[in-house]
Amino acid sequence: MRIFTQLHELRAYLKGQKSAGATVGLIPTMGALHKGHLSLVQSSQKANNLTVCSIYVNPTQFNNSSDLALYPRTLETDKNLLEEIHCDILFAPDNTLMYVEPPKLRFNFGHLEEVMEGRFRPGHFNGVATVVSKFFHMIEPDKAYFGQKDLQQYLIIKQLVKDLSFGVEVICHPIIREESGLALSSRNARLTPEQKINAANLNQALLKAKSLLNQTTIEAVKQAIKDELAQINDIQLEYFEIVDGDDLSTVTDLQKHRQIALCIAAYLGKVRLIDNEFLFS
Ligand code: AMP
Repeated sequence: MRIFTQLHELRAYLKGQKSAGATVGLIPTMGALHKGHLSLVQSSQKANNLTVCSIYVNPTQFNNSSDLALYPRTLETDKNLLEEIHCDILFAPDNTLMYVEPPKLRFNFGHLEEVMEGRFRPGHFNGVATVVSKFFHMIEPDKAYFGQKDLQQYLIIKQLVKDLSFGVEVICHPIIREESGLALSSRNARLTPEQKINAANLNQALLKAKSLLNQTTIEAVKQAIKDELAQINDIQLEYFEIVDGDDLSTVTDLQKHRQIALCIAAYLGKVRLIDNEFLFS
């Protein structure tokens, strides 16, 4: 695996490879890699000649300084994991490369950023759109891979690509989970063993909500899930929403949507986790 920390070196290498006909897949990550990230890398390897995984803990997408400070950083282990699966390139820039000065550009994605993550993490998607735009300019990938776990992020990136005519195909990859159903997340490393067991209730609640939707009203399902989670020690629900899977509008009639997503965010102690399930398979 080639490791780049300098942009001019990465660009020179990619230029040579692209002029020889190579296609490039990009997986932007913040490191602390797990099997979810690695599955994105493996999808890219199947569809592109060269796979670039970026690792950069992007400060502009954190609205909470302690979340940024406590975000796990495991670069040496990450390098080994990427080596093991034969990833071609790791791009690991630092803050001085990514942000010479604080960016002045501001994005506005309207409703897409006003709900769920955007509502509870003001400025988050502005930071995400900024850093992903930078990576798209730096690497000019043919395809870029994002996880369904961050569904709202995926929809925002698709909008970004459409609005700014980036020549990249954005691909959504299914959520990789533990056997318990807990969605893999770098933040799981901060959970105590007991919190980790409790955290599996988030996915169980989503699955229960899915089956309840066949039996009762949307409002009743939302209330049932809220009541159920309120009884579990150490889980503080932030939101549970049932939204259109394409534009995140509120769902009032299940029949009127191509896809519907059930989305949840909750704290286990100080660790904030998110998860979602699509209603239709
Ligand atoms: P992160 O490092 O958390 O920014 O995640 C980098 C990419 O990996 C994002 O596109 C995430 O949606 C994706 N990802 C994170 N967790 C999972 C998972 N459990 N399964 C699949 N993709 C994931």
